[in-house]
Amino acid sequence: MTVILALLALAGPVDTVVRNANIYTGWAARPRATAVAIRGGRVVALDEEAIQAAGTARRVIDLKGATVVPGFIDSHGHMAGLGMALEALDLRAARSAEEVATIVAEAARKQPKGSWIQGRGWDQTNWPGGEFPEADVLSRAAPDHPVYLTRVDGHAAWVNRKALELADVHGATPDPPGGRILRDPKGDPTGVLIDRAQGLVRRKIPAASEAQLREQIARAARECVRRGLTSVHDAGVDEAELRAYRELIREGKLPLRIYAMIRGEGKLWDRYAARGPEVGDRLTVRSIKLMADGALGSRGAALLEPYADDPAHRGLALLGRADVERVARTAVKAGLQVNTHAIGDAANRMVLDAYAAALGGKNDRRFRVEHAQVVAPGDFERFAAYSLIASMQASHATSDSRWVEQRLGRERVEGAYAWRRFLDAGVVVANGSDFPVEQANPIEGFWASVTRGGWRREQRMTREEALRSWTWAGAYAAFEENDKGTIEPGKWADMAVLSQDIMAVEEEAILDTRVIKTMVAGNLVYSEVASEVFEATRAQLGYVSLPELEQPATLVCRYRSLSAGPGARVLLMSRDDVRRFQEQRIAGWAAATEFARSGELRAAIRRPGEYILVFDKGPQQSRARILVDAWLEFAEGASFEPRVATRGRRAAVVWTSLGLFVLIGGWSGRKVLQAFRERGPEETGRRPGN
Ligand SMILES: [Zn+2]
Repeated sequence: MTVILALLALAGPVDTVVRNANIYTGWAARPRATAVAIRGGRVVALDEEAIQAAGTARRVIDLKGATVVPGFIDSHGHMAGLGMALEALDLRAARSAEEVATIVAEAARKQPKGSWIQGRGWDQTNWPGGEFPEADVLSRAAPDHPVYLTRVDGHAAWVNRKALELADVHGATPDPPGGRILRDPKGDPTGVLIDRAQGLVRRKIPAASEAQLREQIARAARECVRRGLTSVHDAGVDEAELRAYRELIREGKLPLRIYAMIRGEGKLWDRYAARGPEVGDRLTVRSIKLMADGALGSRGAALLEPYADDPAHRGLALLGRADVERVARTAVKAGLQVNTHAIGDAANRMVLDAYAAALGGKNDRRFRVEHAQVVAPGDFERFAAYSLIASMQASHATSDSRWVEQRLGRERVEGAYAWRRFLDAGVVVANGSDFPVEQANPIEGFWASVTRGGWRREQRMTREEALRSWTWAGAYAAFEENDKGTIEPGKWADMAVLSQDIMAVEEEAILDTRVIKTMVAGNLVYSEVASEVFEATRAQLGYVSLPELEQPATLVCRYRSLSAGPGARVLLMSRDDVRRFQEQRIAGWAAATEFARSGELRAAIRRPGEYILVFDKGPQQSRARILVDAWLEFAEGASFEPRVATRGRRAAVVWTSLGLFVLIGGWSGRKVLQAFRERGPEETGRRPGN
């Protein structure tokens, strides 16, 4: 049947053929393929039929043997939260309080006085002495800006005096319940706020405007497609976020698909309960997200028996069974889905009881338990009995494994992060990351699923199960398995192209996998240009030649100097500019950064032509090592304005899978050209760990 459909579909030209690929389709009828033909954003044929269609295709992409998987689906993430985290200063690499202060001082120079400076990722255990830092270091760096810096685990904030003043936190302020203000011997706050005390200052930070919210979501979306994600289930949205999604879709700025869960009961939920599901290609709203309890790390998860390391406490239920049951019954009536956060075994059981009452038995409502993190023996089978989906986050297990046994004790930990038990019970496990709590990185999630970082390996998935949990199961958990989740005729051509075969490489090598291209509905939305360490010795410069473009793109290049000295700058030049420069005539460039230890270049490329990214380490340094990540982002369906004449030759296959990477001697023009002739595109470096 499907084969006949595919043949029928091939009557007529196709848009794109992807060939010479190592494709894991996820489709049981044909699990492996080497080519895909795409028309109207959907897969129309595989293998020989696809290759035959190449003659009529607008675009043929030769992947030179690269591995392709169905686009990854993160079944539980927070887009606005990720965008906010990406906007904040990244402090993970700082090795002292002073280093953090330097980063903050630089931000203060760029931001208007009085605006909040936010950062995240500091960890004083990596610093000399290992002591908590103090407000004054930050106050000196940014006297006129309130500063709020979140610790790596999110359980402490480091603030400056300005922030303490704005929040009116002083010596007489009592510690709030569940929180602590660190104080000097006189009782005055030192600048570090633990757990709930963070809220004293955080609530003074103004909420994002609608424009800021749109930018946060757009930024998060760009990060997601860079990681090979083609769909995300946003675990909790409000009206403003839905408006932001709709606006971004209208503007063509949402490069992936969103399955949005309504955040809790309220007006928005009432409206959807009255109207029923809203299903779209880019945005679907047909579910509610409830929160049954807290998290294990802070002992907020509701357990049946007390915490092993705190015998007086069992955590806290945030909802009662009646609340969940009420929502579940409404959802059943309205054809909507209920997705409830449950971490502790008591919370999981309560949700099971409530769902069971509303569902009655096997069904196709696809109600989900988000996290399903600690489950009592016997309750695994109840998930199957009511056709529930376990929406789990594999990297939570690798992150929490250091302390989780202390919290739960040896017996109870058997039912923790136990995805093997769910799979064996016949339960669909949809995978995710809960970003920004964990990295929005399905490769890391895939690795955690199959290795568990070595922790309680008996619960690991096979690679086939892991890939399925990151693709098909996410589609199923959103009622979208007829449209995506596998590479199969009739479905959206949502795909991720990988630098190596994750189904075959050694376990230890899985994390080295890079996403080199991402396609959504047959359109390229992301393409890697370089991910290398450039080593330049005396009088040398490094450069990357961009693939010739057939549609407008945004070039992004992030770099970081790995050697001492003033750092480097990046210039984007057309090949003509490089030539003029070599002939020592006046030349310009399309974009450039300043000299710095690290930086980011973002440049829109609006006309076709050949572009070269040049890394200039300056004349003083005799030798430099520069870590570079560069990629192209594409707006969907955008094409160059037709009036601009195409310059130079255009190959039939317009973009190649890797940019050329060559080191050239000096600025001599001949040498540049020689370098291109003599050294092929095969000279690629390897990225050091991470
Ligand atoms: Zn979450």
